[in-house]
Amino acid sequence: MTTFSLPWRGGLIGAYYYATLPGRMLINASAARNAKAPVMVIYYHRVADRKLNDWTISNTQFKREVDWLEANFDLVSLDEAQRRIREGNTRASVSITFDDGYAENCERALPLLIGRKIPCTYFVTSCSAQEGKPFPHDVADGTPFRPNSIEQLRSLAAAGVEIGAHTRSHADLGKITCEERLRDEIVGGRDALERELGVEIRHFAFPYGLHENLNPVAFRIAKEAGFAGVCSAYGGYNRPGDDPFHLQRIHADPEILRLKNWLTVDPRKVLRIERYLYELPNPKDHHGKEVQRVRDAL
Ligand SMILES: [Zn+2]
Repeated sequence: MTTFSLPWRGGLIGAYYYATLPGRMLINASAARNAKAPVMVIYYHRVADRKLNDWTISNTQFKREVDWLEANFDLVSLDEAQRRIREGNTRASVSITFDDGYAENCERALPLLIGRKIPCTYFVTSCSAQEGKPFPHDVADGTPFRPNSIEQLRSLAAAGVEIGAHTRSHADLGKITCEERLRDEIVGGRDALERELGVEIRHFAFPYGLHENLNPVAFRIAKEAGFAGVCSAYGGYNRPGDDPFHLQRIHADPEILRLKNWLTVDPRKVLRIERYLYELPNPKDHHGKEVQRVRDAL
């Protein structure tokens, strides 16, 4: 049982969601008319029907969420999400991603997405796939779930699922100061997957993904190594005009009302969540923006 299942919490979020929905719809419609619709990226971990925990959603709930997503958004790949951030977006979009690489996801969840031709990026920790060992955080919890095998990942890639990198050992990169170690986790993890799977790995997701788990040096290494983009996981909306290299992701909550609350753009979250900046703004760009602002005001 998770704390999310407490009925009073569901009641509160429901009251808030339905009370603010009409206002949100007006704001979202205006953003879409101006090609500024949000470009959202969500992440799952494990879809399974036993031993549910905070990073597991049941197959029934997963299907319910996918049905709702399909009916209400453009479901796009990360490449398309980045294109919309660069060029503008006239309809709210969602990209579906998974982190870590749990074997059970291949039973129903991924076949569901593949069957409906819904794009998906699957971020994998290379050591777990290569060695077949459960994740240390699951072992510590007494739930040593099986990771995906290399064969499973090959089949997913062949079926059109984009495989992404998620370090070698699921290390917290926010704590690593040694550049060589960072490079080994980010680039080494990617190269190992590329060798095993014979596909190009283009996107990277930070393990844990909160502000404290990110690292400006890691962003630089990922950029220099040729990644098309990297993902964080602290929540947050991407909008046209934002930096397309850093995709902020939202946790696909096992409770659908919370997911609906996120994806219809909760004004409280817009105000509270601060985009992680991995490089200080170039004073020239800053000046350029100021000039633009003055022009816009005239
Ligand atoms: Zn992870």
